[in-house]
Amino acid sequence: MKRELERIFGALGDPAAHAADLTENAPRTPAYVVRATEEEQIPALLKLATEHGVPVTPKATGQNVAGLAIPEEGGIILDLSPLDAVEIDAQNMVAWIGPGVSWERLKAECAQHDLAIGFPLAPPDASVMACALMDGLSTMALAHGSYADWVHGVVAYLADGTRVVTGSAAVSGRPLSRGPLPDLTGLFISWFGTTGVVVRMGLALWPLRAHRRREIILCHDTASGFRLMRAGARAGGFDDLGGLGWPAAKWALGAEELGPRDPAEPELYILADYGADTKRELALQRDKLRALAQAESLPAPMLVQDLVQLAPALEPFAELPARLGFLLDHPGGGLTWVGTYGPMERLEEGARIGARLLEEAGHPPLLVTRPMKGGHYAVLRFIERFNRSDPAEVERIRELNVALGRALLDLDYVPYKCPDTLLDEVLQRMDPGFRDLMQRVKNAVDPKGILSPSRWRLGSPLSENVVL
Ligand SMILES: Cc1cc2nc3c(=O)[nH]c(=O)nc-3n(C[C@H](O)[C@H](O)[C@H](O)COP(=O)(O)OP(=O)(O)OC[C@H]3O[C@@H](n4cnc5c(N)ncnc54)[C@H](O)[C@@H]3O)c2cc1C
Repeated sequence: MKRELERIFGALGDPAAHAADLTENAPRTPAYVVRATEEEQIPALLKLATEHGVPVTPKATGQNVAGLAIPEEGGIILDLSPLDAVEIDAQNMVAWIGPGVSWERLKAECAQHDLAIGFPLAPPDASVMACALMDGLSTMALAHGSYADWVHGVVAYLADGTRVVTGSAAVSGRPLSRGPLPDLTGLFISWFGTTGVVVRMGLALWPLRAHRRREIILCHDTASGFRLMRAGARAGGFDDLGGLGWPAAKWALGAEELGPRDPAEPELYILADYGADTKRELALQRDKLRALAQAESLPAPMLVQDLVQLAPALEPFAELPARLGFLLDHPGGGLTWVGTYGPMERLEEGARIGARLLEEAGHPPLLVTRPMKGGHYAVLRFIERFNRSDPAEVERIRELNVALGRALLDLDYVPYKCPDTLLDEVLQRMDPGFRDLMQRVKNAVDPKGILSPSRWRLGSPLSENVVL
């Protein structure tokens, strides 16, 4: 197999470099690492892997913070990062992007056409496509929903090397909408690479407003922040009303050991993003935000740039994408979270229970939250830093995340980017018909189960006799 892989890809990569990620999820070492530079290499690889029954895990940069790009032991990592073509249809506000297109790259390309995208808190070099395939979220999530909502179609390869185009592009070649055809684009979203390898994605872009504001509201308690978010979602006109728990600011300012919060300090920071094409419209939206803050007796919103003048360490929050060093470069090196989508009315309860679980386990209660898609649902995500080289701490983190996941599921919050640690909890609660349909779909598109078989536990070919 090695020789055949070298024939398709040239030199192979270092397996050890792809065994683990930042999280508590168990490392697994692949047998081979291949780096795709041409689309044609992908069907060739998939046919070969199917023939040999060897699992393949597609990967962009592996920064998903859920263990989802950790390979199968003895399988193949398919590094897609060199496939970074961008083609923008400015009139229809849509782009075809490759898996290697990063946040900073797409931002720069869009700006040339007066177009914009929203950003996660992720590093600037992470993959936009992979985020959309995992139903990730951004600073435009209140206005336009999760990144999965922006996907207008894909070009993908199934395990037997078949090329498929989905969405309107299946007929017209142009990714203008998911319909009006059966919506098979969903066959590749939140499947974590188990149904096919996506090589192009049609992604919606949005107008770049002439005037933009990014303001911060310091909320003395989380509950008042949630009330403001709910009212703001209904009032409309905001791209995002994203909440960040107090430990984020403390860590960003350089504090290492965080004790209990000083009651005089804010508990939640809300970052409000909005824009308009005229100054007058912008001023109206600014007044709306002020009124929302006033109704909760919160201090008036201030420009994040002004706050950065006072505290330059907060610069990463002023303009995204940015590398949040306080999450990535701390001595323990470990980063993980439980992220969920669920009901707006249970935010307070979810935040309270999550914070209690984190604090009982000795972690600062770092919360990320926001209303999504006009306020139809909300995000609750709890982030933990930890020491990756201490097995006992890794085990404690695993237990904490299972407890967090269970508690949030009890409140109807469903994990996104579902990591292995939470799979049992999710699968137990899943409608049996839905689970059966997932397996049937998997069997139809990947009968030998070679594509990321342990994701969603849809079958592992390595349990059979495999010749590598
Ligand atoms: C500090 C930090 C903060 C973050 N904040 C956010 C946030 O606010 N919101 C958010 O949504 N995300 C956030 N993320 C996660 C990050 O944005 C996304 O995970 C990232 O953009 C995905 O790119 P990646 O290169 O990490 O993907 P990878 O980890 O390489 O891949 C992710 C998954 O997609 C699969 N996959 C990748 N490419 C393909 C393909 N072409 N075809 C099929 N399957 C594929 C992989 O097998 C894997 O299952 C954050 C990450 C970090 C480190």
